[in-house]
Amino acid sequence: MPIAVSSGQSLRVGGLTPLTTIDFPGRLAAVVYCQGCPWRCSYCHNPELLDAAAPTATSWSQVLAFLESRRGLLDGVVFSGGEPTLQAALPAALAQVRAMGFATGLHTGGMYPERLAAVLPLLDWVGLDIKGPKHHYDAITGVPGSGVRAWESLGLLVASGVPHECRTTWHSGLFSAETLCELVTALSDQGVVCWALQECRGPSGAHWTVTSQQAIRWAAQFATFALRRQ
Ligand code: SF4
Repeated sequence: MPIAVSSGQSLRVGGLTPLTTIDFPGRLAAVVYCQGCPWRCSYCHNPELLDAAAPTATSWSQVLAFLESRRGLLDGVVFSGGEPTLQAALPAALAQVRAMGFATGLHTGGMYPERLAAVLPLLDWVGLDIKGPKHHYDAITGVPGSGVRAWESLGLLVASGVPHECRTTWHSGLFSAETLCELVTALSDQGVVCWALQECRGPSGAHWTVTSQQAIRWAAQFATFALRRQ
């Protein structure tokens, strides 16, 4: 897969949320939205961030100036997207933010396992999307081989010991409830301790599918489990 930004360039920023209490657990944080993503998930909430070459209104130097003004007020910065690991400028950006005294978080789809491995030592927390079993990925992301890469990232993340949350966005049009149960077992077997299921209604607007009994059962398989309905 192509890399959008060569080393030496600044991070391309698609947007900034000055304060969040929900995107970086336990932190008052800012969210930096990184421009560009190579995947094309049907349920993507940030289509304006997908084109890596699209013009952006916020520069990395503006983000740094904002963070300078928030020293002592914020305690974390989470890099989201788009896909932050698409950009070769990410490690330097993480190091800069850490040097300013902020904790660092990352939201990623895990499509570049080798790049994720390189930035794990610079991270205090990772939110990793696991979109489904490996063999369902191509249909969800539109990119052949995407599942192998995401699950490789999951293995690296769990082995690293960096605090993390795995999250799965799901509706019954993506894959069956039975397959979702198999995914839960696979995540638990992989050593995931924190899993969030983000259930959405899907294009047809169908009713919620996950039952309270399933939610209770899954909660017992992880140290932390969250059911979020979008
Ligand atoms: S990986 Fe994330 S940002 Fe990229 S298309 Fe899928 S949902 Fe959107």
